[in-house]
Amino acid sequence: MTERYRTVLLFGAPGAGKGTQGKILGAIPGFYHFACGDVFRSIDIKSELGRIFYDYSSRGELVPDEVTVKMWAQNIRAHTILSDYKPNDDLMILDGIPRTVPQAKIMDQHIDVLKVVHLVCKDQEKMFERLRRRALKENRFDDADEKVIRRRWAVYEKETKPVLDHYPADRVVEVDSMGSPARVMHDILEIVEPIQTQHFKRFGEDD
Ligand code: ADP
Repeated sequence: MTERYRTVLLFGAPGAGKGTQGKILGAIPGFYHFACGDVFRSIDIKSELGRIFYDYSSRGELVPDEVTVKMWAQNIRAHTILSDYKPNDDLMILDGIPRTVPQAKIMDQHIDVLKVVHLVCKDQEKMFERLRRRALKENRFDDADEKVIRRRWAVYEKETKPVLDHYPADRVVEVDSMGSPARVMHDILEIVEPIQTQHFKRFGEDD
């Protein structure tokens, strides 16, 4: 087995703020942020994969596991070749993948999950409110319809939440996602900074 990518998972329900926080983290040198939903949205809707994505996501359903993991693996390989992701320098921050236990199992061959940052939100209505606001701002068809939002939530509870139990309990850390964006970032950095520092030491960096 080739060496696995050293990875931190950003985990949470739709609307928990994974994307917002992931983008900020990804701007810090030494982190490579992969947001599965963003990559799917960037695919040409007229291509086969683009159509598959549209079919599932517009209903609030997940794209099938094999298609998803294959898309992820190809994308990461391409970015490794382009050198904007350098596995020895960069910690991979995965946002929105794995989203099912079968995805997590397939990906175990490729990733070494050092921590799972679980963005927790106790107030479901607040999350729905965030999704509705995002739909208006970002033109997202999957957030615009109340029925689709509720469907996505149900899929999260049934298919995605069990992913947390796939990893050893001591690797999963909860962060309250209802604070200000800076507060949430602060709490996430407290978790990932020591991992990055260790990663840099391991590969002989000193700053
Ligand atoms: P959110 O963070 O609001 O849940 P995303 O932007 O991450 O939304 O994902 C949008 C849609 O893309 C999902 O509803 C799903 O249809 C598809 N998708 C994203 N990631 C995955 C995944 N890992 N497995 C299957 N489908 C996915």
